[in-house]
Amino acid sequence: MNGHAVVIAGGGPTGLMLAGELALAGVDAAIVERRASQEVDGSRAGGLHARSIEVLDQRGIADRFLSEGQAMQIAGFARVPLDISDFPTRHNYGLALWQSHIERLLVGWVGELGVPIYRGHEVTGFAQDDTGVDVALSDGRSLRAAYLVGCDGGRSLIRKAVGIAFPGWNPSGSWIIAEVEMEEEPEFGIRREGGGIGRASDGVRIRVVLTEQVTEHTSEPTLQDLSEALIVAYGTDWGVHSPTWISRFTDMTRQAASYREGRVLLAGDAAHVHPPQGGQGLNLGVQDAVNLGWKLAQVVKGVSPDSLLDTYHAERHPVAARVLRNTMAQTALLRPDDRIEAARDIISELLGMDEPRKRFAAMMSGLGIHYDLGEGHPLLGRRMPDLDLVTANGPLRVYTLLHDARPVLLNLGAPGGCDITPWADRVRLIDAKYAGVWELPVLGAVTAPTAVLIRPDGYVACVGDLTRPGLADALTTWFGPPTAA
Ligand SMILES: Cc1cc2nc3c(=O)[nH]c(=O)nc-3n(C[C@H](O)[C@H](O)[C@H](O)COP(=O)(O)OP(=O)(O)OC[C@H]3O[C@@H](n4cnc5c(N)ncnc54)[C@H](O)[C@@H]3O)c2cc1C
Repeated sequence: MNGHAVVIAGGGPTGLMLAGELALAGVDAAIVERRASQEVDGSRAGGLHARSIEVLDQRGIADRFLSEGQAMQIAGFARVPLDISDFPTRHNYGLALWQSHIERLLVGWVGELGVPIYRGHEVTGFAQDDTGVDVALSDGRSLRAAYLVGCDGGRSLIRKAVGIAFPGWNPSGSWIIAEVEMEEEPEFGIRREGGGIGRASDGVRIRVVLTEQVTEHTSEPTLQDLSEALIVAYGTDWGVHSPTWISRFTDMTRQAASYREGRVLLAGDAAHVHPPQGGQGLNLGVQDAVNLGWKLAQVVKGVSPDSLLDTYHAERHPVAARVLRNTMAQTALLRPDDRIEAARDIISELLGMDEPRKRFAAMMSGLGIHYDLGEGHPLLGRRMPDLDLVTANGPLRVYTLLHDARPVLLNLGAPGGCDITPWADRVRLIDAKYAGVWELPVLGAVTAPTAVLIRPDGYVACVGDLTRPGLADALTTWFGPPTAA
């Protein structure tokens, strides 16, 4: 243990995904994780949205998750269900799968890729200079890295130590959440006041979510706190006992003012916290990691200048800002008040109409993400659809081309016509045919392009044909200057 190209503080979903992305790109990355095992305290995330499943499919690992979870329509807004079964994607559904399983599967993948994880270690501080970062660990040792990424959750030490502001909104409510047993059968169901009681995934134990009287807390919740919250809500605690875990969350809503300070970057909950409504946090973090991974890899390898890292903030900050807004709106709409309930009924009516449903479903599922890469074809800055291509070597899915996280220039016009030799060490040129309709979520059918430049994260960097004058610029912008002949 003395040095790595990238040190990742925190091995939650974001840190694990980032480590996998860096390892695929051939970068020496290591995770420092405080937890001695991957066990997740509490239930936390309950699933993956469609875009996250696509992102895993782009790496060839979606099946591992699909085989363990339950595919279903999970998207919703303020408890109004949003069906995406008519969306033009192979994964027109979400996946019900607890965070503990998601993390276990990600750890398995990262292990196969050979990423070292320093478990039971905590990052306690760091100092950055012109050439790297010295990362201090809880056992007194230190790791040298070219870059440090804080994937260390909402209370991120990295964010605080580097001095990045975390503006936003203090909590307006607090919820206690637990898995327990009870002497008597409780009143199952959702409460109008928020939360409710249901069966845990084993069908035997009982899961409780309840609003608390007090918003600010200085200590971890106890069985006594849960008993009191049950008595306030229901007049009895039904003899609650034997908690598997008791946890708490609030609707605190904050976002890092900057995702980067020199050689230190933030991703996942370290960069943004918001209430769990709509189940978006883990999904956001995993997709932060996929946006950052290939860029950081190129910078570390000297392929691209470090200004490429600024596009990480430019693209991902607005995506999380939108999630912050939609979770605040949902929290407000779920308040137990007759007038707010009337507003929710109106929203529900609106979301019953096709166009609003599609827009909101695209927002909640992540399928509508659009990075601002300038004017042009609707595909520019949007996710590349997983088309069934025909190539000289047979049928091929677009996402199969992304398994090794390398950029692809897809030529759907006449073979030849462009010399990408100066980028051939980084960008793969594929000649293929596609006879079907090009259809995007919400937008519907779009004009078929004759060539698309696809980034490793699956977003389209350039659309046109291979003779387009801007193609060389796009290749340089995203994948570094041409190699001299
Ligand atoms: C009740 C609840 C329900 C939720 N439901 C959903 C949902 O349905 N869908 C969804 O997408 N999201 C949901 N979320 C949010 C989701 O759990 C988080 O967004 C997600 O865990 C963020 O992942 P992360 O890796 O960024 O951070 P974390 O999961 O917080 O991981 C951070 C890691 O860093 C480690 N760490 C912290 N400090 C240090 C340090 N100094 N040194 C080393 N290691 C450190 C921690 O041990 C931890 O492993 C929910 C959250 C809650 C609380």
